[in-house]
Amino acid sequence: MKYKCKCKTFDVYKTTMKVVDGEVINPETYCKECKTYGEYIKEHKGYGGIIKKPNGTIAKRSDLRM
Ligand SMILES: [Zn+2]
Repeated sequence: MKYKCKCKTFDVYKTTMKVVDGEVINPETYCKECKTYGEYIKEHKGYGGIIKKPNGTIAKRSDLRM
């Protein structure tokens, strides 16, 4: 499972739950470098580089000219 903190993304294979100040946290996702808990990233397999437009059509990233 992938997690993201403020400075990097990393993989955590096993997490335990702990309650600190009324919030549920996963101690394994804590990053000592930026002192934040990692946020779980859902992996979108097979959708890499594809952005869904608001109108429901799918465009490749290269089609979006800013
Ligand atoms: Zn970090």
